[in-house]
Parts: sequence; C-alpha cells; structure tokens
Amino acid sequence: MLAEVAGALRSAGQVAVLTGAGVSAESGIPTFRDTMTGLWADYRPEDLATPRGFRRNPDLVWSWYRMRRLAVADARPNAGHQALAAMERLVPGFTLITQNVDGLHARAGSRDVVELHGNIGRVKCFACNRVAETFEDTDAVPRCRACGGMLRPDVVWFGELLPPRALERAQQAAAGCDVVLSIGTSNVVEPAASLPWIAARRGALVVVINMTDEGQQTGDRIRHLMGPSGEILPRLVAAAWPEPPSV
Ligand code: NAD
Ligand code: ZN
Repeated sequence: MLAEVAGALRSAGQVAVLTGAGVSAESGIPTFRDTMTGLWADYRPEDLATPRGFRRNPDLVWSWYRMRRLAVADARPNAGHQALAAMERLVPGFTLITQNVDGLHARAGSRDVVELHGNIGRVKCFACNRVAETFEDTDAVPRCRACGGMLRPDVVWFGELLPPRALERAQQAAAGCDVVLSIGTSNVVEPAASLPWIAARRGALVVVINMTDEGQQTGDRIRHLMGPSGEILPRLVAAAWPEPPSV
C-alpha cells in the first residue's frame, strides 16, 4: 500500500495535502478536546472559542489562548511536518492546507501554507479587525493601537466564517489535484472535511493517514495508511523519492 501511494505521489503533477491536529500530536500539541482538561475542565468550547465568550469574559479567553501560545512556542515541528516541507520542494504543484493554528508547518520549512483556521501567534482587533504587528503578551487583554479595541487571537472561532481567500485556494487545489492526502484529521469540521471528497469526485486518489480508520470514509479510490504521521510521512517521502534531486 505504501509503495502504491509513493508511486502515485511520484508521478503526480498536482498534490493537495490537508492536515489536522493529529499531525502536531507528536510535537506534544494537544487536540482541542485534550486542551480542555485540568484547570480548564470546567469550561465549555463556547466559553473559550466564540465571539460571545470573548465579549462575556475577555480575560478568560485571552489567558486560555495565551497558555496555548506559550505551549506552541515551546514545541518543535516533528518528522511529519518536515516530510511535508520536503514534499513541497519535490512535487511540481503542491498545496499544503491546514486546519491547525500552531504555525508548525512554517517552522518546519514549508514556504506556502494555506491556513484555514488562522494562526494562534497572530492577533487582530475585535473591533476594527486590523491585524496587530506587535502586542504585549501579558495576562491582560492588550488594546489595538489604531482604535483602542480589544485584541483577540487571529483564529476562526465557532460560528465564524473561514478566511475567504484561504478557502478558495483550498477548494481550487482540491479540485485540481491528482492525489490528496488527508492527515491527522477526524474530518468532521466543515468545510475542510469536504475537501478530500471534492478531489475524489474529480478522480483523484485520496490517501488518509491517521492512527485509526474509525469514522474515515472508504471507497475504490481511497487508501488508508494507519499509524503516526511522524513515522508514515518520512517513509512515504523516502519511498517516493529514493534519490531526491538536490534543491
Ligand atoms: P481532531 O482533534 O478532531 O482530530 C485529530 C485526528 O488526528 C484524529 O482523527 C486522530 O485519530 C488523529 N491523530 C492523532 N494522533 C495522530 C498522529 N500521531 N498521526 C496521525 N493522526 C493522528 O482534529 P481536527 O480534525 O484538526 O479538527 C479539530 C479542530 O481543532 C480544527 O478546527 C483545528 O483548527 C483545531 N485544533 C488545532 C490544533 C493545532 O493547531 N495543533 C490543535 C487542536 C485543535
Ligand atoms: Zn482596532
């Protein structure tokens, strides 16, 4: 199975990759649900990740994201992120689309990342929407230099729209690819979950890389590679490009 997928990757002109929280699990970044344990177990997602929750208790939401931002800063990209950065240089038309907000793909060396859900390292104004170039990362919610409004993390909260340009690029890549890899995602959060099926309808090979095949779709053009992405992805790149050209 790995050899078949490697062959398809090697001969593909266009490859689209969709990643989810699982690709960062081996870097020690917890999934959304795992994060809501311990100190935070008493809160609901709507308290922490909605505009309403922020309006109601900005300090609480700010400190939750601050904790996650510090955890991400301490984490390092893993071999899965690195293999995807290598693939970007080996495939003629390559689009990396992520639902993650941790910025680890860029830190692993990926040059072009389509971020569907924003980035936890960036903040923007809750009032005027301007992205802040700099901000003071303390316990208190910082203020916008332009309008004095509260600054919030530049991530997509429940009930918010995805950044339109990112979504458009993701849909175009899915519609035009020969192979799509769906890695470390439970494929339940729309519209990202539909991307592999846009590709499948156009005849692309769909490759699911996950610890489990539970809840994942099956079909003629779907291949499952089960295991941690930090192990599978480097093996896949090594099998597809045994002697990578020097880049
Ligand atoms: P999810 O938590 O719903 O699913 C994670 C998937 O990864 C599961 O299917 C699990 O089986 C799989 N997985 C776990 N460890 C793995 C590994 N080592 N290798 C391969 N697969 C592994 O995550 P999701 O589908 O990304 O959706 C959750 C939402 O939460 C997204 O909207 C995302 O933006 C957000 N989120 C992001 C981060 C991050 O930036 N790292 C972390 C938590 C949540
Ligand atoms: Zn502002």
